[in-house]
Amino acid sequence: MKIGFIGLGNMGGPMAANLVKAGHAVTGFDLTAPMPDGVTRAATAAEAATDAEVVITMLPNGAILRSVAAEVIPAMTAGAVLCDCSTVDVDSARAVADQAQAAGLGALDAPVSGGVGGATNGTLTFMAGGADAAFATVKPLFDIMGQKAVHCGASGAGQAAKICNNMILGVTMIATCEAFALADKLGLDRQKMFDVVSTSSGYSWTMNAYCPAPGVGPASPADNGYKPGFAAELMLKDLNLSQQAAVSADADTPMGQLAAELYRRFVEDEAGRGMDFSAMLPRFERRGRA
Ligand code: NAD
Repeated sequence: MKIGFIGLGNMGGPMAANLVKAGHAVTGFDLTAPMPDGVTRAATAAEAATDAEVVITMLPNGAILRSVAAEVIPAMTAGAVLCDCSTVDVDSARAVADQAQAAGLGALDAPVSGGVGGATNGTLTFMAGGADAAFATVKPLFDIMGQKAVHCGASGAGQAAKICNNMILGVTMIATCEAFALADKLGLDRQKMFDVVSTSSGYSWTMNAYCPAPGVGPASPADNGYKPGFAAELMLKDLNLSQQAAVSADADTPMGQLAAELYRRFVEDEAGRGMDFSAMLPRFERRGRA
């Protein structure tokens, strides 16, 4: 397949590399990032999109997606599919899909879970929103870049799934960290806390698979000085997206709102920027109740 790929950063670079390894012809464009081996560099985003059957974007945010889409959509061939894999707000995802469909193109929002490791190893999970035909066109590419692709519904449904998942993740990480900090102050050994909670009703992915306490549970960023992993500022970005969506949809999400506020303080005022999102645990340890 002839593929245009725009945004070849930490995630997009290895995703594009896996498409090349599987035998696809990939033309890439990025403002700064180098092209992986085998990806042909285009001079502009429009050039990368010209003649492509599928154009994949992997960009930082919704505003950048909208501006790239405005450039790329007129350059695409009717019937081709624009597939955005970035994590962006639901409104931007739907607006770009509407523009693409009005131009006779297929459109998917297909954000991913699995991080840079998943992008490199081809084990991402894709959650897609858009028409059946567009999903069917891109599915073979999802199968190369990932291990699972769920068609969640119409345009925007992929982003909805992503931000709801990550709202649970942020809330659960905070709950796990504050419980460890309380357990410390109650004199409970951390390993005993893990042994109980990981097999009791308080278990979760954040406790069992990504434990925020160093030396406890499977290896995680906590064992590496809280080097990300999944950076606190990316968690904040996703929590802000969930709150933006909650306002726009008139949904009551008090825990998500509080999680967004705690990560905002952590990133902006409490030296959390550049730390893994599980570094909420030392943050709680440092603090008393006041
Ligand atoms: P990144 O900053 O490493 O990559 C983004 C790339 O987009 C950069 O190389 C940048 O130069 C390029 N870019 C920016 N504006 C551009 C433009 N106008 N035209 C062309 N290229 C442009 O970010 P990343 O970690 O690869 O994340 C990309 C997306 O994936 C984000 O939406 C992020 O939320 C999401 N995501 C990231 C992770 C992760 O663990 N890093 C996990 C899941 C989802």
